[in-house]
Amino acid sequence: MIDPFGRTVDYLRVSVTDRCDFRCAYCMSEDMSFLPKNQVLSLEELDRLCRSFVELGVRKLRITGGEPLVRRNVMWLFQQLGRHLDSGALDELTVTTNGSQLARHAVDLYACGVRRINVSLDTLNPDKFLAITRWGKFDRVMAGIDAARDAGLAVKINAVALRDFNEDEFDHMLTWCGEKGLDMTLIEAMPMGDIGQNRADQHLALSDVRQTLSEKWNLLPSDHQTGGPASYVTVKETGRRLGFITPLSHNFCESCNRVRLTCTGTLFMCLGQDDAADLRATLRENADDDALKQAILEAIDRKPKGHDFIIDRDADSPAVARHMSVTGG
Ligand code: SAM
Ligand code: SF4
Repeated sequence: MIDPFGRTVDYLRVSVTDRCDFRCAYCMSEDMSFLPKNQVLSLEELDRLCRSFVELGVRKLRITGGEPLVRRNVMWLFQQLGRHLDSGALDELTVTTNGSQLARHAVDLYACGVRRINVSLDTLNPDKFLAITRWGKFDRVMAGIDAARDAGLAVKINAVALRDFNEDEFDHMLTWCGEKGLDMTLIEAMPMGDIGQNRADQHLALSDVRQTLSEKWNLLPSDHQTGGPASYVTVKETGRRLGFITPLSHNFCESCNRVRLTCTGTLFMCLGQDDAADLRATLRENADDDALKQAILEAIDRKPKGHDFIIDRDADSPAVARHMSVTGG
């Protein structure tokens, strides 16, 4: 699939549920309302959609949410998707998770062909962890990370960088990741969805964080590329990779290779734009996949050049109305 700007789209991120067992302060409000179940695609429908994307040229699938591992029977979907790895149609199947259910799923994920996962963890302080996730259990996430490593999964820690919250912790987290053999990525908070507070208060520029870290650590340039908004360095002292995701800068849109599917079958061609295609109607109205594939190709033809994120101190509404848990990031 090639978009109007000549970019090959071969990476699909799929949110399999909007529900979550955490309520991270930057992601959701505490009284978040979720979709009625009848609007959410069945696992069979998600499988069918993913298969169509793979047949159209998607080589990498990331399962996300909400919290993907709280969706009932989600391992069935992983098993189906794993078959595309066996056939060679798919290069990689990955997942982004908060880690709460990893201890019971890590071995099965590996068996389905998953080799790398992202675990979101913003702090190593159990009290701060409870404050930011509101409902999270720190020890369970730690056990989940260990179970994933034991199962043979490579783990990357994703931490959202938040002013006055974890900016003094990254140094310690780098040490911890080095000891555990984990890569780490820092993410700038994005203005997505109403969370009941002004986002400008949370915003922390990663260029400043990088500068501070480079005073203590040797950050060696790395040519690792994912087509996304991350730039990477290798931490010489630990040998592990450190990424910086700066979604508010525009310099990654030229290489964007991805689209995002929500659990209701809505395809977003850009994380930072509202235009979307409703694939659920096409999916449910047609028993064969031709019309579905046609709808996907038409959507790719509308993929925008880039996003319009800004965090404006005076703006009282988010740049994009939907929450990150809708598209999974
Ligand atoms: N529940 C899973 C998890 O937390 O990893 C997967 C979904 S979560 C929406 C995906 C990622 O988006 C997490 O790493 C989370 O920290 C990040 N995220 C959520 N809201 C965000 C925001 N407003 N800005 C930046 N990152 C955000
Ligand atoms: Fe849930 Fe992930 Fe959002 Fe946290 S970031 S509330 S774990 S979906």
